[in-house]
Amino acid sequence: MLLSVVIPCFNEAEGIDRTAEVLSAELASVAEEFEVILVDDGSTDDTLPRLREIARRDPRFRYVAFSRNFGKESAMLAGLDEAAGDAVAIMDADLQHPPEILARMLPFLEQGFDQVVARRTRTGDAKVRSFASRLYYRIMDRIVDVPLEDGVGDFRVLSRKAVDALLTLQEYNRFSKGLFSWIGFETATVDYENVTREIGQSKWGFKSLFNYGLDGVLSFNSRPLRAAIYFGLVIALIGVVYAIWVVADALISGVSAPGYVTTICAVIVFGGLNMLMLGIVGEYMGRIYLETKRRPHYVLKEAVRPVRRSGGDDETTRPAP
Ligand code: UDP
Ligand code: MG
Repeated sequence: MLLSVVIPCFNEAEGIDRTAEVLSAELASVAEEFEVILVDDGSTDDTLPRLREIARRDPRFRYVAFSRNFGKESAMLAGLDEAAGDAVAIMDADLQHPPEILARMLPFLEQGFDQVVARRTRTGDAKVRSFASRLYYRIMDRIVDVPLEDGVGDFRVLSRKAVDALLTLQEYNRFSKGLFSWIGFETATVDYENVTREIGQSKWGFKSLFNYGLDGVLSFNSRPLRAAIYFGLVIALIGVVYAIWVVADALISGVSAPGYVTTICAVIVFGGLNMLMLGIVGEYMGRIYLETKRRPHYVLKEAVRPVRRSGGDDETTRPAP
């Protein structure tokens, strides 16, 4: 069995050597045969030279490099595209996904599971952040059609079947948490103690996490649109009742001029609501626009690829950049 390990790397120069070391030590004991695919997501530091060096030293490591930063989702996709393994593991470059957990995950594949996810505890996370994530998952669970679970990230092992299924989903806006559950299959879960990042910094600021959250809502259903319809209906209904009341009042007690405050409030509130609803519609339209362009998910600048096995031994080619 060949195990492929996909590692998206964005500005991980400080830690990647250590990660590679730990991986080559650990992987040898969990899989008969393995390959590590390092994906350089347009790093601006020394990551790429490091990857070249790692791949030169050890032929079981290879890499592809993007022409710019395309985001972790694209990096994972590139890794899956490249992976030749019968099973593929996706892990972070910062050792926050401890490779030794793989030893507990892989047996599930042999038992017939097609996805094995690692679920982390939240020890060591900033209080605010873990509170926010928990709240987020609680809310998301209600509004998104695919089940999402707290503590379950991108650390997982997929069978070849699951990888092939995932690769058929070629949408441009990728929200992998949703994609993983969308493809289905029997999924096993393995718990592990959270590890805090030792080297380098997390690339996720509050803003990007917020946007990620919004993506999760918008890329997996059209419920916000439906909510807008209901909301509009309710407001319209209230409006009609109010109108009847105003007209009746005018008929009974005659027209009196005041009403400026009500008018201005109504204009402002409904102006704002209109914008909000338009924003929701626009957000979906923007997504449709991006999807219709059918652009590739990433552009490669450089890659080290193995020659597909024909005569038995696995050689490595190094096409010029
Ligand atoms: N990453 C990436 N492209 C990006 C941002 C991050 O490939 O634009 C990679 C990063 O190198 C790491 C993984 O995604 O391997 C997770 O990133 P990070 O550790 O910063 O996130 P956190 O663990 O804090 O969620
Ligand atoms: Mg991390």
